[in-house]
Amino acid sequence: MNNKLCAGHYSTATGADHLQPAKCDSREASNERMPCRQCLICGGLRHRVVFREFDIDVLQCSECHHVFSSFVTDPHYDGFWGAEVADEEHSYWRKARSRMYQEFQTKFLASRSGRLLDMGSGLGFFVKSVAELGNWEAYGCEISPAAVRYAREKHKLNNIICSRLADVELPPRSFDVITMWDVIDHILDPDPLFQRCHTLLRDGGMFFLRTPNVTVQLLRARINKLARGMRPNVNYLQAHEHAHHYSMSSIRKLLERNEFTRIQFVHLQPVQDPDGTILVRGAKSVGFQLVRALAEFSKGHLNFDNLYVVARKGP
Ligand SMILES: [Zn+2]
Repeated sequence: MNNKLCAGHYSTATGADHLQPAKCDSREASNERMPCRQCLICGGLRHRVVFREFDIDVLQCSECHHVFSSFVTDPHYDGFWGAEVADEEHSYWRKARSRMYQEFQTKFLASRSGRLLDMGSGLGFFVKSVAELGNWEAYGCEISPAAVRYAREKHKLNNIICSRLADVELPPRSFDVITMWDVIDHILDPDPLFQRCHTLLRDGGMFFLRTPNVTVQLLRARINKLARGMRPNVNYLQAHEHAHHYSMSSIRKLLERNEFTRIQFVHLQPVQDPDGTILVRGAKSVGFQLVRALAEFSKGHLNFDNLYVVARKGP
């Protein structure tokens, strides 16, 4: 790839193109607004409630067991980072994810070169770390104007495109690698986004995404609710933000129907709260090693890690 892409041509999607942030409002969350939703994975209409987060029901499809929120999120929500990004966000996001990003780069980018696009690039820490490798031309695409401004000003990144992800205007087959870190769980209708990623990848290119694993998340949410009750500021399933909760099976089906191939699950170092105690951080590291060993021992059948998915375009 010789021609450098010009992200500047695509930065005009800010402003009028974006809708206002969705309200986290109990009236909007009411199931009366959407009494019955069709399952994203199998199209089924029958479901049961598997968790209740305040007044939002989390549902499970009776046919294929896919888990999804009854709360209908704004499909163009750009308010995750607020109107301005606070300075303290800088330290948390840099430190918490640095080992995970490093391991990704060692596994998939080291000793190679090409062009990478990070869909939902947030504050730009991952794009910055890839750009610093030297061999990679790194781009980001992010819907939040505040996060894009932060990435451009603080990291001096010129290749951050402010656009709705599915609408990003770039030439087909532009990228060797496309990544999505904790994005897909927020997307109500992910097929157009996956199709866009497929179009933007070169033949043989790699698609990577990270999303919570519902097998673990649902169990953890139930334990949290039993132990602590339903309280604000506790992470359960983030039912007003996470539209879908994927399993290995459901994310595989979604990728396959969008023509991705050679789907596999890998493991990367966990996100670590930099303000956590040594005890908590140590316990998380030990837990991660156990989870990784269990996955290897079971040849991938037992996966209690987050879902780190690698797929390819073409055979
Ligand atoms: Zn289903």
